Amino acid sequence: MKHIFVTGGVISSLGKGLTAAAIGTLLERRGLKVTIQKFDPYLNVDPGTMSPYQHGEVYVLDDGAETDLDLGHYERFTNSKLTRFNNLTSGQVYQRVLDKERRGDYLGKTVQVIPHITDEIQNRIREIGEKSEADVVITEIGGTIGDIEGLPFVEAIREFALNAGSNNVLFLHVTFVPFIKAAGELKTKPTQQGVAKLREIGITPDILVCRCEKPLNKELRQKLSLFCNVQYEGIIEEIDVEHSIYEVPLMLQQEGLDDLICRKLELKTPSADMSDWQDIIRKLVTPKNQVRIGVVGKYVELQDAYKSVYEAVIHGGIANDCGVKIERVEAEDIEKKGAIKTLHGYGGILIPGGFGERGTEGKILAAQYARENNIPFLGLCLGMQIATIEFARNVLNLKEAHSVEFSPETPHPVIALLDEQQNITNKGGTMRLGSQPCKLTPESIAAKLYNSNEINERHRHRYEFNNSYREEFEKAGLLFSGQSPDGNLVEIIEVPRHSFYLASQFHPEFKSKPNKPHPLFEGFIKAALACDRNRNV
Ligand code: GLN
Repeated sequence: MKHIFVTGGVISSLGKGLTAAAIGTLLERRGLKVTIQKFDPYLNVDPGTMSPYQHGEVYVLDDGAETDLDLGHYERFTNSKLTRFNNLTSGQVYQRVLDKERRGDYLGKTVQVIPHITDEIQNRIREIGEKSEADVVITEIGGTIGDIEGLPFVEAIREFALNAGSNNVLFLHVTFVPFIKAAGELKTKPTQQGVAKLREIGITPDILVCRCEKPLNKELRQKLSLFCNVQYEGIIEEIDVEHSIYEVPLMLQQEGLDDLICRKLELKTPSADMSDWQDIIRKLVTPKNQVRIGVVGKYVELQDAYKSVYEAVIHGGIANDCGVKIERVEAEDIEKKGAIKTLHGYGGILIPGGFGERGTEGKILAAQYARENNIPFLGLCLGMQIATIEFARNVLNLKEAHSVEFSPETPHPVIALLDEQQNITNKGGTMRLGSQPCKLTPESIAAKLYNSNEINERHRHRYEFNNSYREEFEKAGLLFSGQSPDGNLVEIIEVPRHSFYLASQFHPEFKSKPNKPHPLFEGFIKAALACDRNRNV
């Protein structure tokens, strides 16, 4: 089994996760089985309890694990089947070691970071390899080299390499080569110092992936090679992409990165056929159509809070050969300025998931605007709950209808706590999580889009549609087109005789890929495009 360890230097947000994912794309297309895991140095057991301000999106896997959003990149860029074992935090490592200590496994010994914590991390590296039966395990170490909290992970991969054999392990360091305007040139010093930090621990990178705004010339490459002790061929340029993150694998292939990795790890494979990927890029760069989608949320100023949603919308565009301009609408702005001013002109309106009351009234106005004006609408998780509340208030005339999450005393709790949640008090990992089966109503929009009557989708919620209101909603024309197999939980609602009005309790965005756009997003963008065209006539 071969291992690639990806570290990052100088600054955060260099796109280490994307680089790791893109390497996965290339290696898979060389016929290799790949798995990718992320080590996160923070002490939370998982990111499930963290706010989007702290952490960005929480990405949910089939098995219900709440994980880092980089796992979203891994799944979108590769076919690797990820589980909760693909995201390890310091919190989990310490929890495991402390459980063992209490059990008496270390009886008589002092429990220490080295070797006990670092051994535990190495165990996980071996376990993931065995479980996934991959040819290549890519491990991304979160954070930046030099962070105190990341040290045990870096030490662990150094120790791991010691015993694994030099042709089985490769260290790839993603670094930043800034362009200094005043000097008019790219500067290598931060990279030199970042790599020096890594070498202090005992790791010399085999490959330096240099994130930069401008191309690296030969002279700079030579300088980086000399000062960082990396062979010349190991200096790889990763320049800012022009159009889309999906260009990264093609860029790295052009730099010869996958060839180099395979040579260093002694993997004999044909080169990667990226023709379908090139077609995706063609559709992203020169699409035949264009549409604007308004995403109404409360974390719209954050780049990463709705990451998978934005990506899935773009995939929906790819499926329709359509460029999508995503415009983020602050829900509270709708409350202040009204729906017409804030939402006018969008081909479609999307309300993603969320927690907490702030912005809910604005979202309700957005759902009403879309429903009443025949504008394609897609609601996801909280988005479905919002659509339900809106329908109750404005169609059923239950003016005080609400979700008990936001108004525990509402006389019309159309969204209520899930039964299974009644006695749960702990917050971490206790929502209804992960992949669950769902039955679709034949002939519904959902069934037509999925081209199936049975689906599995990922969940992350505590509240649900309140069944005591079902009849009333149905009489008023709402269609419950998706339900749990026992019929107890509403999973999809649709408003018939509308250009497209569909909302799901699950999160379809987690299963969309650029080369396999999710059917609901494909249908939503198709409807948005048609709606835009009608408007332009
Ligand atoms: N807050 C809602 C719930 O817990 C919706 C969750 C979500 O959108 N992920 O049910």
